[in-house]
Amino acid sequence: RLENVKKIYQSGEVITKAVDGIDFTVEKGEFIAIVGSSGSGKSTLLKIITGLYTEVDGKILINGKSLQEINGENLRENMFSVVPQHLYLSSENVSDFLTKSLKKNEEEIENMLNQDAKNLYEYVKTVKNNFAKPCGSLSGGEFRKVNLWMALHKSADVLILDEPTMELDKQSKSELFVYLKGYVQGKIVIIMTHDQELMAISDYIVEL
Ligand code: ADP
Ligand code: MG
Repeated sequence: RLENVKKIYQSGEVITKAVDGIDFTVEKGEFIAIVGSSGSGKSTLLKIITGLYTEVDGKILINGKSLQEINGENLRENMFSVVPQHLYLSSENVSDFLTKSLKKNEEEIENMLNQDAKNLYEYVKTVKNNFAKPCGSLSGGEFRKVNLWMALHKSADVLILDEPTMELDKQSKSELFVYLKGYVQGKIVIIMTHDQELMAISDYIVEL
């Protein structure tokens, strides 16, 4: 639950009210879309929700407990599965990125990929084709698919995807949509997006 949440950035003389008094509640099993034009504060909101900022006005409550009280990176790490808008490009290989992020060995990752061969075909294909390559050598769309596949398999209560469909082809989009509808049972899905089709499958929209 967010209550009157505000975030101001100050760079020298320039003050930006990036998020200016946002309220919403999202319950287990709900899929919400956070929408708004470029610069309306969507990515800032993601960083606020996942506790990356210490200086935020208002309240962020998780199961009634203040986010600030839920200290420690480990707790947050287990609570959220996130694909940010600007992906962190590490120098490691896709295989190392996945084994580290998912805390599984290569054999377990391979089994997971095989299980997904039908419902997430495009993602499995991309991960398999690029498994031995450095993350930085993948195209934007390829690396986003690797990140999305990873995030969908990380055990966390809240999945947050910032502009996930930005670089996706039609088939990858439709696989993601079908998967998300099943995924949200018992979890929370929050999507920051401009994509009308993605908004259409959400339970409700929070407009910034
Ligand atoms: P969106 O994701 O909706 O496009 P952002 O949350 O990225 O919007 O940005 C919201 C506003 O805050 C924009 O005006 C942006 O320029 C500004 N902003 C974002 N990050 C910073 C920062 N680190 N320092 C200063 N201004 C920032
Ligand atoms: Mg953004």
